[in-house]
Amino acid sequence: MAKLILIANWKNYPPSNKEAVKILNSLSKKAQVFKKLATFIAPPLTYLGIVSERTRRYANLASQDIFFKTEGTHTGMVMPDILKSFGVRLSIIGHSERRELGESSEVVSQKVLVALRSGMIPLVCVGEKTRDQDGDHLEFLRDEIKASLEGVRRKEDAKKLVIAYEPIWAIGKKAKDAINHAELSQTIIFIRKVLTDIFGRESADKIPILYGGSVEPANADELMHAGGVRGFLIGHASLDAKSFISIAES
Ligand code: PEP
Repeated sequence: MAKLILIANWKNYPPSNKEAVKILNSLSKKAQVFKKLATFIAPPLTYLGIVSERTRRYANLASQDIFFKTEGTHTGMVMPDILKSFGVRLSIIGHSERRELGESSEVVSQKVLVALRSGMIPLVCVGEKTRDQDGDHLEFLRDEIKASLEGVRRKEDAKKLVIAYEPIWAIGKKAKDAINHAELSQTIIFIRKVLTDIFGRESADKIPILYGGSVEPANADELMHAGGVRGFLIGHASLDAKSFISIAES
């Protein structure tokens, strides 16, 4: 993807269809801004139809997860083919809030492969819980990336991947509590190095790495200029149309 990437992760919000429509009405007034980016909206599944209808001109549809099977009967699950038929082009996989519920990197890697085989872009989320001076979090990050991408083929698949670096300690806070510009730059270099170990330099260099974790209008500009970041995954600020538009403008 040549354009910078902006992804709205609505999580389990807003609480009603009416409020979803209100956000979408505000976003559509700034369609031109979103068109300059590869913009994706990942709403709760119940709002897929309405988001798809109302954002077709300027954004793509994303899912917040993907089921790791493509066949059989599975009550309560939404099959990847159904997501695709709604126009879902990208799936957020391995979000920390799902890992917190017990999703292992092994399951994440199965989901990544299902997304790839279904023709969807896997957005693979990785990030450490805490940081320390000794750099142990880097080791954690390396292991998590490798395990989450197990089975991904070097040539055919790597070019379809997108990685989101989301340090868990920085999620759901205020801009002042997010990672700083220098720490982000260093971590992106490290992630790129791990990807190079797995896929080789040529493929690794093409994988976009996004940042997520308390991106708000107040820090978007600074973080965007951290070396190597190709866009953002936005949580709470994506539910506030004014903030999301302002981040897109940065
Ligand atoms: C997220 O949970 O993916 C996220 C980035 O959340 P927030 O922007 O609220 O920190």
